[in-house]
This record gives sequence, structure tokens and C-alpha cells, in this order.
Amino acid sequence: MKNIILLAPPAAGKGTVAKYLCDTFGYVSISTGDMLREEAKSNEELKAIMESGKLVGDDIVFDLLKAKLNKLGNTPYILDGFPRTVNQAVMYDELLQNIERELGVVIYLDVDKEELKERVVSRIVCPECKASYSTREDDFAPKNGNLCDKCNIELVHRDDDSEEVFYQRYEEYLAKTMSLIDYYEGKGLLVRIGDTDPVVVFDKVSSLVKEND
Ligand SMILES: [Zn+2]
Repeated sequence: MKNIILLAPPAAGKGTVAKYLCDTFGYVSISTGDMLREEAKSNEELKAIMESGKLVGDDIVFDLLKAKLNKLGNTPYILDGFPRTVNQAVMYDELLQNIERELGVVIYLDVDKEELKERVVSRIVCPECKASYSTREDDFAPKNGNLCDKCNIELVHRDDDSEEVFYQRYEEYLAKTMSLIDYYEGKGLLVRIGDTDPVVVFDKVSSLVKEND
């Protein structure tokens, strides 16, 4: 299985795709944020940096990532939300070279902006277990009126699931990520998947990660 860098704008279904890969093919999802929080439990220096709200230096992030990848051995992994910048992407290339690993494939869930907006404004969530449902798609509608399938309590529409907040987050994401997308596209490593049907997305992702394996 190929390793994956997963890029996706808000509401494009990154979590769903990651979960599918972990459940189906035994991928491990790596979030550098989680890695840092874990390390900070036993590292006073890092803890102090994080508590002060300062940015953690790339060197620390890469040290942790390197240790993590070495520990993983041949288990395929998904980098979730990382690299964030072209500079980090270059450092990641160097790290891979260093430990003689392949980057794999960069998957960009390039779902149409208006479709994403519709998902967000029609989203209702359970205040208890955070499960999300849709008032628009029957497949994702709650089974019983406006109640959570699991907790049986009333679902709510969050204030920040608005058209305005969505457009703002989407534009912020693009502005931040565009140069990274260009970087990987230029290397011929980026694959865009713009489908909305999860079955089709899973199918495409599956054939991508198995390719030439
Ligand atoms: Zn619930």
C-alpha cells in the first residue's frame, strides 16, 4: 500500500476517507498536532512552548515524525493535515530520502465549492456524541425525526455551519494550501478526486493506493 498525504477543504470528507483506509487496509493516521500533544506529556521544554502559544519549530516536528515513521516500519500511513507549507513539504522529501521511503500519493479531495457549502448548511449534529447528520441527503438523515440514532437526543444546527463562515474557511484553506497543491502537482504526485458519492470516492482511493503494489 502506498503512503498518503490527504488534503481536503472543509467538509470534503477527509475524516471519512481516512477512517475507510484505516478500517479497510490497516492504515495508521498521523496527525502532527496529536504527536506534539502526546510528546508534551513527557517533554517539559515542548510543553512550555506549546503552553506559551508559540509555534513549535519544524525541527521538533520532524524529529518526532521521523521517530514515528521508524516505529511504524512498513505499516502504511496517512499524513493528515501535514505538510502545511511548501517548506515543510521540502523537509518531508528530505526526511523520506533519509530513511529511504517513498512518499506515495497525494490525494486532494477537490469537491465542488457549492456542494461543500450545501453539506455544511444542511449539517445537524448531536451535542452529545458529535455525530453529524444531514437534512439534505436521505442516506445521512437521522432515523427518527430530529433525534440522534445513538443518544436519542435532539440534533442541533451549529451557528458556525453557515454559508458565510463556510465561504470564509474555504477561501482561507485555498489561500493556505494552493502553493502546496502546486508543489505536488508539479512533481506529478497529486491526484484530485472530486466525486461526492462516498462509494465512488472509496473506489478511486482504493485503486490509487494499491497501484503498482
Ligand atoms: Zn449522539
